Amino acid sequence: MQTPSSAASADNERINWLSSIPFIGVHLMCLAVFWVGARPVDVAVCVALYVIRMWGITAGYHRYFSHRAFKTGRVFQFILAFVGSTSTQKGVLWWAANHRHHHRYSDQPEDIHSPIQRGFWWSHMNWILCDKYGETKMEAIKDFARYPELVWLNRFHLVPPVLLAVALYFIGGFSMLVWGFFVSTTLLWHGTFTINSLSHVFGKRRYKTTDTSRNNWLLALITLGEGWHNNHHYHQNTANQGWFWWEVDISYYTLKALSWVGVVEGLRMPSESTKYAYLKYTPEERAELAAPTPFWGARGARAQILAARTAANDAAKAAGDAAKAAGDKVREAIASAADHLPTSAPTPQALLKRR
Ligand SMILES: [Zn+2]
Ligand SMILES: [Zn+2]
Repeated sequence: MQTPSSAASADNERINWLSSIPFIGVHLMCLAVFWVGARPVDVAVCVALYVIRMWGITAGYHRYFSHRAFKTGRVFQFILAFVGSTSTQKGVLWWAANHRHHHRYSDQPEDIHSPIQRGFWWSHMNWILCDKYGETKMEAIKDFARYPELVWLNRFHLVPPVLLAVALYFIGGFSMLVWGFFVSTTLLWHGTFTINSLSHVFGKRRYKTTDTSRNNWLLALITLGEGWHNNHHYHQNTANQGWFWWEVDISYYTLKALSWVGVVEGLRMPSESTKYAYLKYTPEERAELAAPTPFWGARGARAQILAARTAANDAAKAAGDAAKAAGDKVREAIASAADHLPTSAPTPQALLKRR
């Protein structure tokens, strides 16, 4: 039987088809490519806007606003937020607050988009299409909510993408609008979403983390470096997510270049001991890291393992508490018995010590 609260939570976890019309509409508009054809200039704009806006998400929304992985001035901070907003992924404060929540509870039952807990589609996009996470959790992003221009942009997050769409139409006509906005935005959405869905399932785990994050070179290429997701979950506040020379991380290269001209500074990097922590793992730990993540279906085996682990921890804690309570009772009994002993008997303190 459903309790009232679980019924309410199931309700706001259902896809809201009405508010999802724009999301579906952007996808459907991609079909217009069959009508407008593929002018090289339109396709080039599509690719360029994918890269620029993905950069706004990774360098801006993610590394700067969610993790404060580097420093910059107030003007460039606004530019980062503005470019990120053109990706049509809601407001900067909304995005960063939810992302901080993901790191706090990654792959635990509270995680807002864990493929292990809730399956592929939920982690990929259904969590955005329901009403549950519509509000910006301001308490989780207080450090940036003190800037009125960011609060404004967070509220009117559709202004940048609408301006972009209108500009594309006036510059290159309907075909440029279709390729530069609708196709590019659809690709950008699903490229970004893979980090929440696929990056917790496919790839290699180098570091022990409490979640199932993985490093995946293909996802790193399409997301300009975000696919080194196991590195990122192991140590989240670094400006680079590719930690070794072969881990291509375009977002980091551009941030590094911007630091040379003084636009950004204080890029945080992983320490050597963080980077090489995996060298100290035991063979058992390595074997556990090499195990695949079963996730098809809402509750994979991994979720059961995580749940069993939590239950075992709880049980151990309860057993510890019970043992402590029993010990206290014995001490009390000895102390009260000692009160009735003749004066020649050992003192209660001596009896307590002998236990
Ligand atoms: Zn993650
Ligand atoms: Zn992150």
